[in-house]
Amino acid sequence: MSDAPNQTMSPTIIDGRAMAAAGRAVLKSEVAGLRERGATPHLAVVVLGDDLSARAYIRGIERTAAAVDVRCTVHRLESSTTIVELTAVLDMLGAAEDVHGIIVQAPLPAGLDLATAGMHVAVAKDVDGVNPTSAGRLLLGLPSYPPATATAVMEAVRAAGVNLRGARTVVIGRSAIVGKPVALLLLREDATVTLCHSRTADLPGRAREADLLVVAVGRARLVGADYVKPGAVVIDVGINDLDGQMVGDVDFDAVAPLAAAITPVPGGIGPLTNVMLLRNTVAACRALTGLE
Ligand code: NAD
Repeated sequence: MSDAPNQTMSPTIIDGRAMAAAGRAVLKSEVAGLRERGATPHLAVVVLGDDLSARAYIRGIERTAAAVDVRCTVHRLESSTTIVELTAVLDMLGAAEDVHGIIVQAPLPAGLDLATAGMHVAVAKDVDGVNPTSAGRLLLGLPSYPPATATAVMEAVRAAGVNLRGARTVVIGRSAIVGKPVALLLLREDATVTLCHSRTADLPGRAREADLLVVAVGRARLVGADYVKPGAVVIDVGINDLDGQMVGDVDFDAVAPLAAAITPVPGGIGPLTNVMLLRNTVAACRALTGLE
């Protein structure tokens, strides 16, 4: 990587779709092996309400599950569901012997808190890392299922060949489901991590220090060329609707000429995330059934 200013290069486009296809093929054969021995991995998805983005998200999970022969059941609840009713469903799924993974579609309707709901997602089945115990285990470096999106980011980083030991990494966004777990996973790999957010002073200046820049904000094309050091690897987690077009948090056309490698939106982290969710579900099935 070089510090030369105004350098342009032809970046490696990190192809999340191709990586997802390869990941699905591996998972499918692992699931075949488990099924032969009598275990069918089973993911339960709990959805509250029925908005368009939730529908598209659930369809994506169902498609990926079908492609790898994982059973997927969707539990649709009214948006008026109370926390008591929601936690009762989660407790029931936690006790069900044939369920190995549980996720709750976020964001939850107003008045329901994901951390409270998360406490009722059985830790052994918490394949998207929402139980505070799972988050604590991640913090302590103990085995856990980190949130699927954060795992997808790490897959993309590995695909880009980034040597994380001692690398200067900057994560923009501090949500419990993306920014914070990504920061912890990078730290686990011996990276030096700066976690930025909406109150960070001189955000472009901080971002320009990064050899690896991960952006998970939810603001269309927030990150322009002034945020990126030439030769940096840029991972864009954002999914935004800009006049009917899906765009990331990174201004791809402005940033790509500077970057050594970059994820596109669509076709980057998004397709990988569902595969990571199913991978966690298969791992949970193995752990719960004792089949290695
Ligand atoms: P969030 O709203 O929970 O968190 C956003 C974070 O960005 C916050 O920590 C906030 O401090 C920070 N932020 C907001 N405005 C900022 C600004 N102007 N400058 C710097 N920081 C700012 O969002 P999230 O759930 O972490 O999601 C982030 C993005 O990632 C969204 O676009 C979401 O759609 C996308 N996402 C993608 C996937 C996937 O599978 N690819 C999964 C989850 C989220």
